[in-house]
Amino acid sequence: MPASEAQFTMLKAARLVDGVADFAHERAAVLLEGSTIRQIGTAETVHAPEGVPVREIDYGDATIMPGLVDCHVHLNGIGDGRAGDELATLPDEVLTVQAAQNARRHLYSGVTTLRDCGAKHRTTFMLRQAVEMGIVPSPRLLLAGRPVAIIGGHLSYFGIQATGVDECRAAVRQLIKEGADFIKITATGGSTRTSHPLRPSFDVEELRAICDEAHRFGKHAAAHCASSQGMLNALDAGIDTIIHGVHKEPDGSDTYRPDIAERIAEQGVFVNPTIGASVARIRALESASEGAENITAAQQGELDGLRHASEVRMDHFARMRDAGVTMAAGSDSAWGYYRMGDFQTEIEAHAMAGMSGMEAIVSATRDAARSCWAESLVGALQPGMQADILVVDGDPTDDVAVLRRVADVFIAGERVDRQNLL
Ligand SMILES: [Zn+2]
Repeated sequence: MPASEAQFTMLKAARLVDGVADFAHERAAVLLEGSTIRQIGTAETVHAPEGVPVREIDYGDATIMPGLVDCHVHLNGIGDGRAGDELATLPDEVLTVQAAQNARRHLYSGVTTLRDCGAKHRTTFMLRQAVEMGIVPSPRLLLAGRPVAIIGGHLSYFGIQATGVDECRAAVRQLIKEGADFIKITATGGSTRTSHPLRPSFDVEELRAICDEAHRFGKHAAAHCASSQGMLNALDAGIDTIIHGVHKEPDGSDTYRPDIAERIAEQGVFVNPTIGASVARIRALESASEGAENITAAQQGELDGLRHASEVRMDHFARMRDAGVTMAAGSDSAWGYYRMGDFQTEIEAHAMAGMSGMEAIVSATRDAARSCWAESLVGALQPGMQADILVVDGDPTDDVAVLRRVADVFIAGERVDRQNLL
């Protein structure tokens, strides 16, 4: 489209975080041309070409920043605490409608790209078809489809169980044929009742076949690892992202493994630590116990357990960062009780575990995009990149809670109509 016909939008605000610089630009302006970013600077330096109509929006004491990138969601999730085993018994039609609701919630809360790390059957691919037809609004979707699991392994109820190198390769080829953007593997058990979180699932040969096959098609692979041996196996296999990254020994003890952190950093693997879900649940139980409702003895036990586990995970998070590991923010909502539309809790948890406001924002924009192999398109505000933008009232580098004060969301240069919430 020639420049004279393009639609130009000028956004102004007190500051701009571009996702790359470690400081905020003051008195900022950004010029959008259609779906992309054309120029970034100050009100004095940014100008539209002579004579073209420009829509201008001045947000005052606000911050313009990249739209958030949540590198770990489950669009099928309800977020009402039900176990995955129960979730997976719901029909595909219901799970597809739920996925549409979750996508909308996340978009309206400021997330403009999400990576879905495992859904039942073809439900998320169905959602993508509806989004492409303009039936429902959604962030950009990076989809795994069904996770690759062993027989009875974690998330095996979503529809793929593979045994041996040949079946592992076949599973990857099948998923890519259906439209998978990346491959999700469950390298250890998890909450799935027939699985064992402290034990590895696939052997290294099988994991390597999955990673190699994904890479052969230009896709990346992300592995759920709920224990240390799972991380080691995934590293041996050439994994790209370690999800959860839990340091736990076969006896269940929380032993931090500096050797594993070193290898993660050395191989340039991302860790998606998922520490926000516990914070969200702790906050909900605490506010219930302070209110009139009171909590049951079982809930008090849950709260005590979560507080302890959360402390351990945050300590390990800080130590992995010190070892040079890049943390990519991903919420894991709407798993368990963690509803979608609240990625901010995960980002707050990163700050609670020691990141500065700016570092936590980068973990949820540029670094999350890097972990999704999407950094050339999204996760930062640079000329030529997609105009996926979040505007918040106030300064989130000073206090990440400001990320909840959403003033506007743009995706591919289009302003999102956020009044239209179900
Ligand atoms: Zn997950």
